[in-house]
Amino acid sequence: MAASLKRTKPRSPQRLVLFVGAGASRACGYALNSEVLPEIYERLASDEFGDEHVDEWRGPLLRFLDHLMPGGRKAGLLMITEVLSVIDHCLASGEDLLPNSSLKSLTLIQARWLLERAMAIVIRDRLHKQELRPKKIVEWIAKHQRRGTEVSVLSTNYDSSLDCALFRWRLDDWNSDYADTDFGFTWRDPDDGKLVHPSANPRIRLLKLHGSLNWLLCHRCGHIYVNFSGSIVQLADCEGVYSRCECGYEPLRAVLVAPSLVRQYRERNLLSVWRSATEALRLADRWVFAGYSLPAEDVGIRALLMRAAFCRDETARVDVVNLGDEPLKRYRQLFPKCRYTADGLKSFVDGESDWM
Ligand SMILES: [Zn+2]
Repeated sequence: MAASLKRTKPRSPQRLVLFVGAGASRACGYALNSEVLPEIYERLASDEFGDEHVDEWRGPLLRFLDHLMPGGRKAGLLMITEVLSVIDHCLASGEDLLPNSSLKSLTLIQARWLLERAMAIVIRDRLHKQELRPKKIVEWIAKHQRRGTEVSVLSTNYDSSLDCALFRWRLDDWNSDYADTDFGFTWRDPDDGKLVHPSANPRIRLLKLHGSLNWLLCHRCGHIYVNFSGSIVQLADCEGVYSRCECGYEPLRAVLVAPSLVRQYRERNLLSVWRSATEALRLADRWVFAGYSLPAEDVGIRALLMRAAFCRDETARVDVVNLGDEPLKRYRQLFPKCRYTADGLKSFVDGESDWM
C-alpha cells in the first residue's frame, strides 16, 4: 500500500496589530491630555497664543473658559475632555450655556472650534524630552515584517511623529513608494492632487482612529490630503493655495475627533478607517497594545475591540505594554489571558520587559 502523502497546509503569514495610544506619544515627547488645557489657558492669558484664529478671539475664549471653571487655577483646571464633553452635550441636546448677546462673545460652536484648534496647536508645540525615539518603534515593526509578519498600526494619537518615522524608514523613495501605504481610506496626494487608494499589500498600514495633525479635509469633495513631512493642521481654516483643494474648495479643515465623552465618528473617511481597523483586528493573531490605557470613556474603542473579538473563532494573543499597572484591571476584565508589562514602551522595544 502506497504511503499516503500527508499534505501540510502552509501556515498563513502571521498578522499583528500594534495599537498605540497616548502613552506612546508621551514617550516620544508629546503632551498628555491632562496637560492640554493648562497649556491652552496659559497661552491665552499671555500676550499672544500664536495662532491667527485663536488670537483673534483670545479674550472671549479666555472669558468663556473662566465661566466654565469659576474656581480657576486655585481649584485646579478641568481636563480638556471635561470641557469639550459639556459643550458637546449642550450642542447635542440643543441647549446653550452662556448669553451670546454681544459680538464679542462666542457661540458654543465657535468656542468648540477654537478649543479644538488650540488643542491641535498645543499638541504640536508642547514637546517634552523624548524617552523613546519613534524610530525604535519602527525598528520593532520592521523586525516583525522581516519575519513575514503583516503589521497593522492602529493609533488613537493626533501627532504624526510615528507616521513620519514610518514614512522615513519604511519608504525608500516617497515619489514612487507613496502608493505602498494603507491609511484605511482613499486620500489626495498634495503634490499632484491625484487620488491614492489603499494598497492591498502595503509596506505601511497605519490606521489613525481619531484623525491626524498631518491631514486636511475638503468639506466639498470629501477627500483628505495626507502630508508625509509633518503637521499641516496650522493651515486649516486659512486662505491661500495651501488650504485650497484640487476641487477648488477652500478652506481645508482639520480632521480630529476631539477628546470628549460624546465623541462623534461621522466623518466619511474616518468611518472607513474604523472599518479597516475592525478587519485588521479580526484577522490578526496577536494584538499588542502600547501606551493605551483603555479608559472607560473610550466606548467607541471598547466596542471596536469587542466587535473584532466576536468575529474571531480563536482569541488573539493579547500583549499590553504600559508604564505602571493602573490599566491592568481593565485589560484583564476584557482579555483575561492577556500578558501585561508595566515597564513601559522603551523596555518593550528593547526586549527587556518583565511580564505579568
Ligand atoms: Zn475638494
